[in-house]
Amino acid sequence: MESSSGTPATRATLLSFDRAALAARFVELGLKPFHAKIARAAVLEKGITDYAAMTSLPAAARELLSRELPILSSTEIGRRVAADRTTKLLLAFPDEARRSATVETVHIPARDTTSGKGATLCVSSQIGCPVACPFCASGRAGLVRNLEMHEILEQYVRGRALGELSRSVVMGIGEPLLNFANLSRALDVVHDEMAIGSRKVTVSTVGFPDRLRRIAPEKPRFQLAISLHTPDQEQRDELVPAMKGVAIEELLAAADDWFEKTGREVTYEYVLLAGENDSAGHAERLAQRLARRRCTVNLIPFNPVDDSGFGRPTEFAVDRFHQRLIERGIVATVRWSRGVESDAACGQLRVRSARA
Ligand code: SF4
Repeated sequence: MESSSGTPATRATLLSFDRAALAARFVELGLKPFHAKIARAAVLEKGITDYAAMTSLPAAARELLSRELPILSSTEIGRRVAADRTTKLLLAFPDEARRSATVETVHIPARDTTSGKGATLCVSSQIGCPVACPFCASGRAGLVRNLEMHEILEQYVRGRALGELSRSVVMGIGEPLLNFANLSRALDVVHDEMAIGSRKVTVSTVGFPDRLRRIAPEKPRFQLAISLHTPDQEQRDELVPAMKGVAIEELLAAADDWFEKTGREVTYEYVLLAGENDSAGHAERLAQRLARRRCTVNLIPFNPVDDSGFGRPTEFAVDRFHQRLIERGIVATVRWSRGVESDAACGQLRVRSARA
């Protein structure tokens, strides 16, 4: 069996099947369809990843399933826990080409633990990334392969095992729109069986206008974030190399169409890089680009990446940029990354682990 990315499929796991196919697989194994229902709910709703803990299944069924049907395909090979309890997992997936098949998944607890809100999970969509943004550790070695649907899903299961989840951002390693078929199947399960509502899931992309226009009429069940990073065409071609030749205006027009078709406002992500794109002039030109558009700008002060040559802006520069946007009537927020002392920049843990 070939995966949608053309890579050899890994061994089937419980999460490789949809509900009906899993029931059929259980029957093949001599079990009942309701056993499949119990096992699936334990994994997706409670984050249980060991059949031995599924005590509502008969002991013989637990033993059989432990032998015949793995729940997860990945192995946790690294974990960093920051002082604020942000937890970054480094997961290794089987890969027949024996390349470095690792991704990062980050569990970010709610700031206010008394709010009753669960954590946000940051999920990867590909192993490596073909976009090659020069400030990002994930893009350095290029794309290894797409993640399969179940490999995306098991990041959610591992996240749920760390604590209740309220939100998710597909903002980890990879470009989600380049693995959209697998991602969208995984997000359907997240919505239907893990009860994370579509307004609580954000997919962050560098924005391929043709793909956005193709997907919008399907009214996908997520919020859209587009990584813009600069209002200037020449600089965007450098900061987001895979988008070279795509005019910013064309991208913004596709985002406008998205809003019209889905009724959901777009968020623009803007990584602030010291001395590169954080000047008052950049803020002014960004405000001009986005004038009269219903959207939010999410400013993300850069998390230093080893050897990248880019730096984190000062709080003064971040504040100046933010204020300038607000003065121009643009809705903007600043998102200081959490767990900064713990390889918080996307892809850092993966890169360091590959070097070790
Ligand atoms: S910032 Fe995102 S799109 Fe750019 S290389 Fe990194 S993972 Fe890929």
